[in-house]
This record gives sequence, C-alpha cells and structure tokens, in this order.
Amino acid sequence: MKKTFMVIGLGRFGSNIAKTLVAMNCDVLAVDINEESVSAISGFVPHCVIADATKERVLEELGAKTIDHVVVAIGNNLQASILTIVNLRHLGVRNITVRADEESHKEVYLTLGASDVIIPEESAAISLANQIVSDSILDYYEVSKGYALAKIIIGKDYEENLIELDLRNKYDINIVGLINEEGDFFIPRGTDKLQKGNIAVVVGTKQKIKKIDEFFNN
Ligand code: ADP
Repeated sequence: MKKTFMVIGLGRFGSNIAKTLVAMNCDVLAVDINEESVSAISGFVPHCVIADATKERVLEELGAKTIDHVVVAIGNNLQASILTIVNLRHLGVRNITVRADEESHKEVYLTLGASDVIIPEESAAISLANQIVSDSILDYYEVSKGYALAKIIIGKDYEENLIELDLRNKYDINIVGLINEEGDFFIPRGTDKLQKGNIAVVVGTKQKIKKIDEFFNN
C-alpha cells in the first residue's frame, strides 16, 4: 500500500519536503497555520490545509491517526513543536521526523517520542565539508551516526574484479552501486571491474570512506 505523509509547517524546509514527496508520487497532506504559506504551496501539493497542529482535535480531524509518517517542520517554534509531537504521540503516530534548529532541542524531541530529529544546517554543513575535503568525493550523505553514503570517482583501472579486490573485508565498505561513463547507474556484480572515471556509490563509516577514497585515488 502507498505510504501516506503529513508535513506540518511549510517554511522553506517543510515546503521542499512536501513538494519532493509529491514529485515522488506519494500521498501528502501539507499543513500550516499560516494562510500565505499554504497558498504558496497549493500549486504543487494537491492536499494542503490551514490548521494549527498544536491542537490535538485538529490533528485528529485531519486524520493524523492513519498517516504513516509525519514530518514536523515548524522550525524555531519550540513550544509549537513540542505540543505537536505530544499530540501526534497521543494519536498513536509512530514515525515522527522533527526538524530542529538547535542541538539542545534534539534531546527534548526524542524524549517526547520523535523517531528522528534532523538539524538541516548541520546535515548540510557536514555533507558539504566532506565533499570539499576531497576532489574525488562528489556527494556525501550521513545516513546514521558515524555512517555515510558517498559517491566517489574512481581514479584508475583495476585488473582484479570486485570479488578479487575484496573491499568488503579489506576496507569494511560496501559498493552499492556504480555509475558508468554514460551516467548510467547499475548494481555491480562480483565479476565487474572498477574502471577509471566510473563513480562508486559506497556505504561505510566516515573513516572507511576516507580510506577507500585514498585507495581509489592515490
Ligand atoms: P524554515 O526555516 O523551514 O523556512 P519557518 O520557521 O520559516 O521554517 O517555517 C515554519 C512554518 O511553520 C511557518 O510557515 C509557520 O507558519 C508554521 N507553523 C508555526 N506554528 C505552527 C502550528 N502551530 N501549526 C502549523 N504550522 C505552524
């Protein structure tokens, strides 16, 4: 069954989440207390309503109980974020991702029952720093504490195939995808060989990603 989403708070962060989910063909209900924020997004998101998420009854009427995943993107309004999380938990919502502005708010949201808290500026800064530190790392996303997914250019041709290189054991990383010179993505087989100019999509700890970048490019 198709997953359903509710995005609460349609500032820059929330509206981009809502638009992206709609573009990915998901069912999204976008909510904001402010009429202008709702009308700004109405051309992109078919279901959007003006509502105050700090009121449990309002969320219940919007059908929050049946939503699979709620994103709380109220921004710097700590009190409204707290009340919204508590309401959602009362209604039995399990997956609640909250956008926080400050590290100190993160623990509060998690204690109240948020399943995940993200600080967009922090994530973007970490990702950017990791990209610019090496010319061969094109993209970098922190997927969980200490772990990341990175796109790394391969700087030379390898004689051995992936089984023979045994990078999983030697470097403790997984190559989950390769992008060839034409820009086509494919999931590699053990018999594939790494070629100069291809891009490897790699998962591992940050330290191991640094090591594998050195292996591909030194
Ligand atoms: P950003 O940094 O992502 O632009 P903002 O702080 O500008 O974030 O946006 C937060 C949004 O959350 C605003 O559009 C605001 O109207 C909305 N908002 C604030 N309180 C509530 C509430 N109680 N219920 C629903 N939306 C709210």
